[in-house]
Amino acid sequence: MSNSAPTPANPKTYRVKSFGCQMNVYDGDRMAELLAEQGITPAPEGEDADLVVLNTCHIREKAAEKVYSDIGRLRREDGSSPLIAVAGCVAQAEGEEIMARAPAVKMVVGPQAYHRLPDMVKAASQGQRMTDTDMPAETKFDALPKRRRSGPTAFLTVQEGCDKFCTYCVVPYTRGAEISRPHADLIEEAKRLVEAGAREITLLGQNVNAWTGENAKGQSVGLDGLIRELAEIPDLARIRYTTSHPNDMTPGLIEAHGDVAKLMPFLHLPVQSGSDRVLKAMNRAHQVEKYLSILEEVRKARPDIALSGDFIVGFPGETDAEFEETLKLVDTVGYAQCFSFKYSPRPGTPAATMGDQVPMPVMDERLRRLQTALNRDQYAFNTASVGKTCEVLVERRGKHPGQWLGKSPWLQSVHFTGDVAVGDVVTVELVEAGPNSIAGALKVPASA
Ligand code: SAM
Ligand code: SF4
Repeated sequence: MSNSAPTPANPKTYRVKSFGCQMNVYDGDRMAELLAEQGITPAPEGEDADLVVLNTCHIREKAAEKVYSDIGRLRREDGSSPLIAVAGCVAQAEGEEIMARAPAVKMVVGPQAYHRLPDMVKAASQGQRMTDTDMPAETKFDALPKRRRSGPTAFLTVQEGCDKFCTYCVVPYTRGAEISRPHADLIEEAKRLVEAGAREITLLGQNVNAWTGENAKGQSVGLDGLIRELAEIPDLARIRYTTSHPNDMTPGLIEAHGDVAKLMPFLHLPVQSGSDRVLKAMNRAHQVEKYLSILEEVRKARPDIALSGDFIVGFPGETDAEFEETLKLVDTVGYAQCFSFKYSPRPGTPAATMGDQVPMPVMDERLRRLQTALNRDQYAFNTASVGKTCEVLVERRGKHPGQWLGKSPWLQSVHFTGDVAVGDVVTVELVEAGPNSIAGALKVPASA
C-alpha cells in the first residue's frame, strides 16, 4: 500500500468507526468526545472525514486483514487518504506491523492510551507518524473529558482488563490486567450521563462482576454495592451490566437481582461449553453443575430473569459427544438470547498451539446446530412474553411512520406506535412475537 499524497493538516472533521464489543463502543464515544474538545466536529453523514479512527477488535477471525481492507477503502480517488488512526485491540496486538505495512496510517493507539489521541493528532497533522501502545500506570479515565452528551441509553465502563487467561482469549494480552475504576468517579460519571439524558446505564467490563471499590463511607463494596448506590439517582430508570464471569457471581449480586427494582431482569453469563473437560482445557475454572446452580440461585431471586450467554464451538479437541453436552446444556437452561461463535485461534494464546484443531466444516455444522437450538429458544422466550404488560424505554423512531422502538425489561426489542418521545418509559402490552422482536400496543405513558 502506498500513500504519496499529503495528509490534511489540522483536521476539521472526524469519524470514529468502532468494531466488536460494547466496551469498544464506549471507547469510541470517549475518543469522539476527546476530538470534539479539540474543536474537531463529526463529519456529516455521507461526507469524507479529515480524520478517521478505526477502533478495532481482535477477538475473532481475520481481524487484522479487516483493518487493512478498511484502510484501503478510505483511499480517495485522487490517491490521498484522511488522517488515519488505528485504535483498539488490533492496534495493541499488531501496531508495529500496521505501521510498517500501511503508510496511510499515521497513528496507532492502544486501548489504554487513547487519552493521548489529541496530542497524536497534532503531531500527525505536522507529518509525524506515531505508535502509543503503552499500558500506563495512571488510568486514561482521569484524562478524559467530563461526559456532556448522552442518548436514552448509555454505557459506563467500570472495570477493564482480565486476569483470568482463558486459553482461547486474547483480552488479557490486549487489554491488560484487571482494574476497577474508583467508586466516586463512577457515581459522578453516571450522574453526568443522567443529567445529559440517559435513562438507562449499562455497566461494562470484560469481567464486570469482578469490580470492587470503596464507597464514600470507606467500606469495601462489590458490583452489587455500586448498583444499589446508582439506583438512588432519581432520574435513572434502569441499570444493566455486562459481561459477567460465573466465578464472580457473588451472593450479594444475586440478591440485588431480587430487591433492586431498577436492576433489569436480564443476566448475560457466558459459559462457553457444556462439557467439563472442555471447560477445564479452556481454563474456565467453573464446571457445568456450578454454572447451573448459579442460574438456579438467580432464578430464585428473580423468577422472571431472562438468561443469556456466550458459546464457543470447535475448541481444540472438542469431540462430537462433548458438543452434544453443549446442546444438552442449552436445552436445560432455555436461554432468552445468546451469542455463539466458532473457535478462532488467536496468536499468542495457549489454545492456538494445541493439537487436535477441529476442522472448519465440523465447526460450521456444530455452529449451525447450536444456533438452530438457540434461535428456537429465543423465539419460545418471545412467544411466552406475549400477553405481558411491561415498561418499555423508548430508544428511537422505527422505519414506519409513527413507529417507535424500545426495549422491554428483558432486553427484547419492542416496536409500537403512539404519542411518545425518545427517553420515555411507557407501558406496553406485548402482542405478537417475532424471532428477534416483539410488536407491542401502547397502554398509558408511565413516566416521562
Ligand atoms: N469475559 C467474558 C467471559 O468470560 O465470558 C467474555 C468476554 S469476550 C470479549 C466475549 C466472547 O468472545 C467470549 O465469551 C467468547 O465466547 C468469545 N471469544 C473469545 N475468544 C474467542 C476465540 N478465540 N474464538 C471464538 N470466540 C471467542
Ligand atoms: Fe477472555 Fe476469559 Fe477474560 Fe472473558 S474471562 S475476557 S473470555 S480471558
